[in-house]
Amino acid sequence: MIITFLGTGHSQGIPVIACDCPVCQSDNPLDKRLRTSVHIQHNDTSIVVDTGPDFRQQVLRENITKLDAIIYTHQHKDHIAGLDDVRSFNFKQKKPMPLYGNEDTLEQIKKDFYYAFEENKYPGVPQILLEEITKKSFNIGELKIEPIEVMHYNLPVLGFRFGDFTYITDANYISESEKLKLLNSKILVLNAIFRDEHYSHFNLDQAVKIVQEVKPEKAYFTHISHRMGLHNPVNSELPKNIELAYDGLKLEI
Ligand SMILES: [Zn+2]
Ligand SMILES: [Zn+2]
Repeated sequence: MIITFLGTGHSQGIPVIACDCPVCQSDNPLDKRLRTSVHIQHNDTSIVVDTGPDFRQQVLRENITKLDAIIYTHQHKDHIAGLDDVRSFNFKQKKPMPLYGNEDTLEQIKKDFYYAFEENKYPGVPQILLEEITKKSFNIGELKIEPIEVMHYNLPVLGFRFGDFTYITDANYISESEKLKLLNSKILVLNAIFRDEHYSHFNLDQAVKIVQEVKPEKAYFTHISHRMGLHNPVNSELPKNIELAYDGLKLEI
């Protein structure tokens, strides 16, 4: 399995209006973050987790030319806004794209992308198939995916376990029973927004604590704000088995 981080940023860390902070002004590519998403290649199966506003740019950058499915963590705009560009895969692959998400996420997708669900569709709109994720594991190709329910303030969000790789973003709480699903991961990805406390995201200390509790071989943090500070100094102060993820980072497991 090859994991590629398509984006590792929190929306606040992606300047829309020019920002003069050291991270936004940095020349280091490790400080340039797009909205959070990850690509997973497992044998012939190619999937992405979330399609934020930067989806098109990310797919071009990583030369992803085949996509079998999209799985969604939750319905916030920074995770779904780029879905319309799935049309290109529809044209190329000549079939609808399966979208996996919980009930709330699929409902929001139906509202935001209503034109893809109309009875008489305008030609060329995205062709999508909705697949609801329940508490049970499901398969895409040969890839088995176990959903993990975490909390994002008061919103239940899905994390996913793909064999030894566990991916969680946009969480600020994981129940003890769901935490059991994280145990024995080789690689754990968790969100860490910045150093201060936040109402809906783990901060750096809280994310480190979870890693120390569930003890993966290696952990990477994602969904990082520019307020975290520069990549290199923050990264070098983390425990040995933890690193900040960055856009374009590839892992093989
Ligand atoms: Zn969110
Ligand atoms: Zn988010």
